[in-house]
Amino acid sequence: MSDLNEIGERDHWRCWLCDKAVDPDASVNSDLGPSADGYAVAKGKKGSVAVERLAHRACNTMKGKNAPVVPWASELLVAEPAPIIETIERLKAKGGRELIGRCSSEADAEAAAEWLLDRLSRLAPETSFSTQINPGGGQYLLMLKAS
Ligand SMILES: [Zn+2]
Repeated sequence: MSDLNEIGERDHWRCWLCDKAVDPDASVNSDLGPSADGYAVAKGKKGSVAVERLAHRACNTMKGKNAPVVPWASELLVAEPAPIIETIERLKAKGGRELIGRCSSEADAEAAAEWLLDRLSRLAPETSFSTQINPGGGQYLLMLKAS
């Protein structure tokens, strides 16, 4: 169990997929118990490496899910939100910036940007991200950039 404890400490006992607390004392056989989620990330030319992240047993990607999915917060008003993990992996590998969502008001775009940066500080703590809001065509485009 020492491995799981190490992963839990590093991820501050928070599930990397649903962003909710994981009880370190919960049974590893219960749905909300801790588990290590093996996750392959691209590492430039060297191919991919497996990184282990803390997940609830029920959230764990290895349980028959094809790819990890990090949901956007339901209270945000974002049209066409991009898949978060795929977008940040591309930005980490290639740099630049990408459109990650569209909002109909600047306030909605600011709320989404604030939520996203906070979420990414836990999801991908090794990379720093910034956001930019570009008005255009009566919408506010939320751009994400890896710096
Ligand atoms: Zn979870």
